[in-house]
Amino acid sequence: MGVIYMDHNATTPLDPAVLEAMLPYLKEHFGNPSSTTHEYGKVAREAVEEAREKVARLIKARREEIIFTSGATESDNLAIKGVAYAYKDKGNHIITSSIEHKAVLNTCHFLEEEGFKVTYLPVDRYGLVDPDDVKRAITKETILISIMQVNSEVGTIEPIEEIGRIAKEKGIIFHTDAVQGVGKIETDVGRLNVDLLSISGHKIYGPKGVGALYIRKGLKLIPLIHGGGQERSIRSGTENVPGIVGLGKACEIAGEVMEKEAEKLTYLRNKLVEAVLSEIPDSQLNGHPERRVPGNANFSFRGVEGESLILSLKDFALSSGSACTSASLKASYVLLAMGIPEAIAHCSIRVGLGRGNTEEQIDLLIKELKENVARLRKMSPLYEG
Ligand SMILES: *Cc1c(COP(=O)(O)O)cnc(C)c1O
Repeated sequence: MGVIYMDHNATTPLDPAVLEAMLPYLKEHFGNPSSTTHEYGKVAREAVEEAREKVARLIKARREEIIFTSGATESDNLAIKGVAYAYKDKGNHIITSSIEHKAVLNTCHFLEEEGFKVTYLPVDRYGLVDPDDVKRAITKETILISIMQVNSEVGTIEPIEEIGRIAKEKGIIFHTDAVQGVGKIETDVGRLNVDLLSISGHKIYGPKGVGALYIRKGLKLIPLIHGGGQERSIRSGTENVPGIVGLGKACEIAGEVMEKEAEKLTYLRNKLVEAVLSEIPDSQLNGHPERRVPGNANFSFRGVEGESLILSLKDFALSSGSACTSASLKASYVLLAMGIPEAIAHCSIRVGLGRGNTEEQIDLLIKELKENVARLRKMSPLYEG
């Protein structure tokens, strides 16, 4: 057996049907969607617009409210900088949370250098933002609220609908990074009252390097990239046609399989969580026990470095904290923000289940976790069971 992939929060494999949909646009349908004086361009234009329709349908938006980007990092940058620059005469204050993806946090840090003021809201021990904290943080200067739909490390589902209601009441623009939620849980931009919503292709079995930004009709944004005026002049540059087609197909598939998949992944995840918590002493589940996306589990095992545990689980591709913090060997800022002590945060691993995972794989993971946690603890001078 090859290495079993359980890191679907970091990226997902391309769905074979997505690859099939993309191939013609890497081969014979190579036209430029702006060159509609001939058939090549028209075919590409039609494919882009069909994909736009599919993305819109998944989040219950209108076709013309979807802009294609190079991924969610760009979508987050475009949403936040785009609003900040467009509305800077109205105010200079932004509200976000301390557990956002770096694409949001570092964009906010950049804007602080540009003179904007940013409030980074705390979260509770489950990783939840309190809507009352959002309300209290609003000032006359507030122009934007950006809170993620689902946290990528612990899978906690944030109260987006409630925050959206507050934002709407106060007339403040609301952005959500929905990369870890769209395609996994029901996402309806109308019900959530969001004005901007970021999507990434490669987190939903689509290709890397393509994403989308939902922009509520009538909302003004200053573009980041100027040029030929593509994507209603909000995002210039010749469209990544194969990528966009792939993203559209991935959204279409997600809409079809989401319910069944959520059911299956919830079952597998619950089986794993129950086994770990009952059979491995001094283990804990990080994140909310119920308000979490189906495929995510995040554990800490006292006295066992997350990194060492992952290295010892050779049959599995897992992550400790987020992919980015893995490289730097720092305790996850998300877990620290949740009030988890640094010593415990260092002992965390994330299991990201996805479309291809099976019950046998879960059983094997449970067995290997039990053995390896016990073995590493025996060797650890820090652990006294
Ligand atoms: C992966 C991810 C991003 C970045 O998306 P890219 O398409 O890789 O740029 C942003 N936000 C969240 C929550 C993510 O999980």
